[in-house]
Amino acid sequence: MSELTTAFTNSVVMSINVGETSRSGWNVQASLIAKNTHNPIRSIVESIVVEPNPEKCVIALSIGDPTTFGNLKPAREVIEAVQESVESQAYNGYAPSAGFQEARLAVAEYYSDQHVQIDPSDVILCSGCSSALDICITALAREGQNILLPRPGFSIYRTLAVGLGISVKSYNLRPELGWEIDLDDLEAQIDEFTAAIVINNPSNPCGSVYSREHLLDVLDIAAKYCVPIIADEIYEYLVFPGRTFYSLASLSTEVPILSCSGLAKRFLVPGWRMGWIVIHDRDNILDKEIRKGLQCLTHRTIGSNTIIQGALPKILKNTPQRFFDNLLQTLYAHAKLTYNYLSQIPGLKPIMPDGAMYMMVHIDLSSFPGFNSEMDFVQGLLAEESVFCLPGQCFDYPSYMRLVITVPQDVLEEACLRIQEFCSRHHVKNCLQNVIPY
Ligand SMILES: *Cc1c(COP(=O)(O)O)cnc(C)c1O
Repeated sequence: MSELTTAFTNSVVMSINVGETSRSGWNVQASLIAKNTHNPIRSIVESIVVEPNPEKCVIALSIGDPTTFGNLKPAREVIEAVQESVESQAYNGYAPSAGFQEARLAVAEYYSDQHVQIDPSDVILCSGCSSALDICITALAREGQNILLPRPGFSIYRTLAVGLGISVKSYNLRPELGWEIDLDDLEAQIDEFTAAIVINNPSNPCGSVYSREHLLDVLDIAAKYCVPIIADEIYEYLVFPGRTFYSLASLSTEVPILSCSGLAKRFLVPGWRMGWIVIHDRDNILDKEIRKGLQCLTHRTIGSNTIIQGALPKILKNTPQRFFDNLLQTLYAHAKLTYNYLSQIPGLKPIMPDGAMYMMVHIDLSSFPGFNSEMDFVQGLLAEESVFCLPGQCFDYPSYMRLVITVPQDVLEEACLRIQEFCSRHHVKNCLQNVIPY
């Protein structure tokens, strides 16, 4: 073909392409990922049409941010560590995308003890625990595969997976057993396309904390089918007196675990966006591909906030035990208060949490015939009493509502009082025995 003909052919092809994609007018479309990424909580909350009662100040027991009401503040030592980090001017530049070595070492030391030794190369710093989860899900699962999620469960796993074309399958938790995992159901959900199991312990929205034995049972199932686990342990150590937190990584001998956590909840600084992945992989199962994959994915954001990385060693080492003890004391007192109050209300059945910052409350809808669903119920509660709780739907679990127990005690008491008044107005004694599932 002569040069001239080639040039001619190219120009014909180009003009055809321009015509086909209508480059002549603006037609800017969102990608499939953008269109498939939904936050169900946002859309459910936005679908709420009722207004709060203007006579009563709004009490939002819906916001999973412990700093909202100003009663829970980070430790003095943590604030000072960040001040020093800023002043030093040593953290204005880029860090390596998995984080500065000293910051990764600090996380490794935070988790190391006489039983477990974590190496800084096993730590990847991320922009919050959400980003840690994003990187783990993206590294482990591809389009057409599935991941297993708890029901009820935190919605972000679904948001992240579905956007990427990864299917989600749910395994049930059992409220009557402190929200233990239904192990038969978990096992039944695993198929040849299952890329990972997500375990959230302690749990949002349940506040449940799993025993060592239960976690060992979960590990047995994962080992039997060779499925790695993504452990969302953002509420690690936030457990009430008498309960013990066991990390999955501390119990696993064989199953590779990607532990995700961060500063958000235990250190009361969710806005600082500091989280991490710790890779636990005794048998080097993830070495072939996944380690590299995780590392590569950090290049998408060029790593996490360097000011907080600079402060991280001091945050993790200098926060006094007293700070954690006080936080737990407050959360436990709030949980007991709320539980004792709501247990007295006919038609409601709160489930006492063992940790974290939430309580699930079962609504016996047969005793509240004015409401068709828990969604209706929470809207009624908002319209009449200006108290807002998230409907169970947000966690794939109708007939329940989730309460946040981090709000100040007097606010919590006021909320309980209003919930009681609302319930007594709408409760109808049922001659058929009320069916509570346990
Ligand atoms: C709050 C929360 C997170 C997100 O933590 P960030 O560090 O703020 O991204 C992850 N998982 C669960 C279960 C949470 O409740």
